[in-house]
Amino acid sequence: MSWRDIQCGELRPEHVGRRLTVAGWVDTRRDHGGLVFVDLRDHTGKIQLVLKESDGAHELRNEFVVQAVGEVAARAPDAVNPNLATGEVELQVESLQILSRSTPLPFQVGDDTVEETTRLRYRWLDMRGERMQRNLRMSHAAVSGIRRTMDDLGFIDIWTPAMTRGTPEGARDFLVPVRLQPGKFFALAQSPQLFKQLCMIGGLDRYYQIATCWRDEDLRADRQFEFRQLDLEMAFVEREDVLDVMEAAVVGAFEAVGKSPPRRPFPHISYDEAMSKYGSDKPDLRFAMEIQDATGATRGSEFGVFANAPCVRYLLVPKTFSRAEHERLVALTKEWGAKGLALLSQVAKFLSDSELEAFGVPEGSSALCVADTEEAAAHVLGLLRLHLARELDLVPDTDVFHWVVDFPLFKHDEETGAWTFMHHPFTAPTAGSEVWEPGEPHDVRGQHYDLVWNGWELGSGSIRIHDVEVQERVFTTMGMTDEEAKSKFGFLLDALAMGAPPHGGFAMGIERFVAQLAGEPDIRQIVAFPKVSSGSDPLTGAPTPMPEAVLAESGIRALPQEDLPKA
Ligand code: ASP
Repeated sequence: MSWRDIQCGELRPEHVGRRLTVAGWVDTRRDHGGLVFVDLRDHTGKIQLVLKESDGAHELRNEFVVQAVGEVAARAPDAVNPNLATGEVELQVESLQILSRSTPLPFQVGDDTVEETTRLRYRWLDMRGERMQRNLRMSHAAVSGIRRTMDDLGFIDIWTPAMTRGTPEGARDFLVPVRLQPGKFFALAQSPQLFKQLCMIGGLDRYYQIATCWRDEDLRADRQFEFRQLDLEMAFVEREDVLDVMEAAVVGAFEAVGKSPPRRPFPHISYDEAMSKYGSDKPDLRFAMEIQDATGATRGSEFGVFANAPCVRYLLVPKTFSRAEHERLVALTKEWGAKGLALLSQVAKFLSDSELEAFGVPEGSSALCVADTEEAAAHVLGLLRLHLARELDLVPDTDVFHWVVDFPLFKHDEETGAWTFMHHPFTAPTAGSEVWEPGEPHDVRGQHYDLVWNGWELGSGSIRIHDVEVQERVFTTMGMTDEEAKSKFGFLLDALAMGAPPHGGFAMGIERFVAQLAGEPDIRQIVAFPKVSSGSDPLTGAPTPMPEAVLAESGIRALPQEDLPKA
């Protein structure tokens, strides 16, 4: 016997006269003098049940699970509900069985005013609502579309270990103690990076995986401790081959969720252009409001603040600002580290006519200026650009996908004074720049590329180093001794020395991608059981302390609270 003949949302006029069994959750109950109307719900929708009070209907409460057998009837014309797909029919119930009861609810299913921690604590209730049903099903459809595309393109899905050595993706590792080897730890893979490269060296030529990755970072709208990536790697390819596959995967996902896909090929912008025009390596290109430069025009100015600054950059904003509005922006940009934010009209008296003219401020607009280093100006004006576009409603309802390319291979860590990788240490330098002095890598460009959708970085990839000497040079530039490089990455260096084909790949965050597809503001809304920003799971209460005896088995003793390093 089946619990139901048809799902709640599937009943239509063509079923009128049939005797059918339905099952689902009581969504609402309305009593009308002797008759009781119940909306019965499952993920496909709701169907109205009509019961007599004598049928035990008075016992029903919201979220009881019931099975009802009855005849499908057409509703009277004035009772038709045009807002419901099943609104022309109802089920005249002959017998009703309560399959499961519910205690009083902490919130009503579908109530979107409920505080998030409560939603997560009772996620099973939250999931019954339309929002989570839609998001989780969309996530599945997107992943299916991606898998289909990858399969069609000849990629094979290879499982790689979660428990491994630390992978340098720029975050802290989650550690896993090992009872069989007390005092030693696995790291949970920050990504399958080195394994997928080893697959290429192993002759597997087109790898992909919907890989779970673990990174111990602060949680944010677009970050969870664990997340999934479409992780791919290809041998004997150049950058454009990898981008082509990624674009196909994005389009495959759009089609699978029934959305019209972005046009290919996605445009490219260089890292330098992105930083100077938009102050970000993941610019939102749905609107212009580019950062302008007035450094040259103000070099000889009598206004020392401009003349003596390393650079003068500004945003042209289609609005005039009152003193109070300007002060509010000054306070905001201070929080981002700005030393000042000048409104051109307020400092105009210190500037010559030709200097002022160079700013080219149209009537009704303003110039907001930062006089500082290039990096500081880019950082502040980049954030201000996003803030003002949102506040002034300048972001059109479109989708813009684009690639950011031509990144530097290394960046300088101001605190430690050391050079470190921009993407990860396995990214190849551009052809022709494979040799540099280890202390002088400023000008080396990497074959690294990022995919950006409406200002969200969806993922990164690169053409990899396949020459062991270049790999060693990167490690040396990062300040590693030969011994250190051998001890951490000896397996990679060995593999690179045994016939490594040219190869490259990419990884795109599935949750970020689906959150954007679903129009959700953060990835928690498309993760079935996410953690909150404190790093805990309100549902299970994890993480929890472990008994000393359990820790001791792995050779661990927990420090008392006061001895923990300060965050
Ligand atoms: N492993 C990189 C990451 O997780 C992606 C890649 O280079 O393929 O960001």
